[in-house]
Amino acid sequence: MLKKFFSYYKPHKRLFIIDFSSAIAVALLELAFPMAVQWFIDQLLPSGDWGRIVTVSILLFTVYLLSTFLQYVVSYLGHKLGINIETDMRQQLFNHVHRQSFRFFDNTKTGHVMSRITNDLFDIGELAHHGPEDAFIAVMTIVGAFLLMFSINPELAIIAILMIPFLILLVTFCNVKMNAAWQNMYGKIADVNARVEDSVSGARVVKSFTNENFEMARFETDNGNFRKAKLVAYNVMAWTHSSMYMMTRLVTLVVLVVGAWFTIKEKLSIGEMVSFILFVNILIKPVDKISALLELYPKGMAGFRRFRDLIEQEPEIQDRPGAIAVSHLKGDILFDDVHFRYDDNKDVLNGINLSIKAGETIAFVGPSGAGKTTISSLIPRFYDVNEGAISIDGIDIRNMTQQSLRSQIGIVQQDVFLFTGTVKENIAYGKLDATDEEVFEAAQKAHLEDFIASLPDGYETQIGERGLKLSGGQKQRLAIARMFLKNPPILILDEATSALDTETERIIQQSLNELAENRTTLVIAHRLATIRDADRVIVVTEEGIAEDGKYEELVNKGGIFSRLHSIQFQEV
Ligand code: ADP
Ligand code: MG
Repeated sequence: MLKKFFSYYKPHKRLFIIDFSSAIAVALLELAFPMAVQWFIDQLLPSGDWGRIVTVSILLFTVYLLSTFLQYVVSYLGHKLGINIETDMRQQLFNHVHRQSFRFFDNTKTGHVMSRITNDLFDIGELAHHGPEDAFIAVMTIVGAFLLMFSINPELAIIAILMIPFLILLVTFCNVKMNAAWQNMYGKIADVNARVEDSVSGARVVKSFTNENFEMARFETDNGNFRKAKLVAYNVMAWTHSSMYMMTRLVTLVVLVVGAWFTIKEKLSIGEMVSFILFVNILIKPVDKISALLELYPKGMAGFRRFRDLIEQEPEIQDRPGAIAVSHLKGDILFDDVHFRYDDNKDVLNGINLSIKAGETIAFVGPSGAGKTTISSLIPRFYDVNEGAISIDGIDIRNMTQQSLRSQIGIVQQDVFLFTGTVKENIAYGKLDATDEEVFEAAQKAHLEDFIASLPDGYETQIGERGLKLSGGQKQRLAIARMFLKNPPILILDEATSALDTETERIIQQSLNELAENRTTLVIAHRLATIRDADRVIVVTEEGIAEDGKYEELVNKGGIFSRLHSIQFQEV
């Protein structure tokens, strides 16, 4: 897993090397500082040479400047590295999700994908930036400081270094406590938010039961729990800060006292003692970093593992090697003994045989749940059949590339999905490289022109969250315009007008009929009035295809269709 993790550094090798070597340089300069101070006090000061002191000070200043610049480089390029890796992963994840087949989206909650894309990747990015660099620099600083201290005075060095594990323990203990406290607090604020959302969106129900006081009391409890949790978190934080402060002072004090004793015994010079105190202070930072890593590492790696789990999930439906790119299909569709199930629980289609001639309009009717939508989803190969085969113009659809197959099929459903963007962009979704003229023509064919002309910004009017809200009929017209642009030989209308009122449906039907001209069209319909003109009607039940014939034939046959027919036309 670690090897996989590091493979993401590859495209950013140069950045990594510059960042890493700058970080090493900063650490080395940091280590050199106490040594310089020691030399300054013990050698330079007694000489009393003011001119040299000034020269050395200017030199020190230059080194500081260099160190400052390098620290900027480390901070900026290090974060750049992290962000680059995070961006690569995010793009990879997004691309991967879009390569997936329908079943993936049936089984995946949008929220989970979202949290992978936002939270997990943020943690991973942090780890990618801080992980290797901080671990290396921290260890290098601790070892380097220890060696230098050891060269000055071994006994004092060992005393100082023995305190490091205790420091790391203390800092880690504080971090763990703090994390738990914050986590608990996040849970409580989530409760508060959920309560607000619930009771405000249910405000009408609250009012009709006059349960306002009950809601207020419930909220008071949640609000109070959040207050308590937040107080605990701040208390832990205050404790952490003060105990860290005390620990660092304590270590300094120990070195001061023991150092003083050594100095009195003339085993240590003043400069060496000052140098020791500076070294001890230098050690605080790597200790802090190691402890932060102890926490960041499992979090980032857990996120990375979840990320890889998703990335390694191969798309269910893939192009066969040697699959052909079809174009200009005529639209003869053949179902040959098709069996299909979504999962092992139950067969949805059990041996469907069906032949549709190019240019025909076929209506599918039947009870909901019978499998009409399923039949239509198999044609663009959204799912693969379990047994049997579907072919178009005599070619098994599994021998076509998905891209070319789907480019030959247009689907209009009950819910039209509009993307955030302009009216024009939404129509052009049917053909991304469409010219303005083509878009206008499609809109005209879908009888959308007058409506668009009435909009404040015409074709440039924004649709979606903060823009225009379209009525069901207008949305369907937009979907129809998309289809005119796409211009596929095969058209599937899956209850396209079922959500509309009868009047709107009648008007939209006109556009749909125009769209269906010269195409093989499968119409799944609820209201029988809309399928009068179909060449054939197919009645689908859970048992399979029950009836197949012309509208009038089936009405007179006295079977399921004629029963459906009499029920619907009595009601109206
Ligand atoms: P219709 O369009 O005729 O109303 P469907 O084709 O949508 O029927 O559904 C046929 C059967 O398949 C139903 O029992 C339904 O519950 C099931 N089904 C539909 N879609 C899925 C899916 N994505 N996953 C699992 N089962 C499904
Ligand atoms: Mg359906």
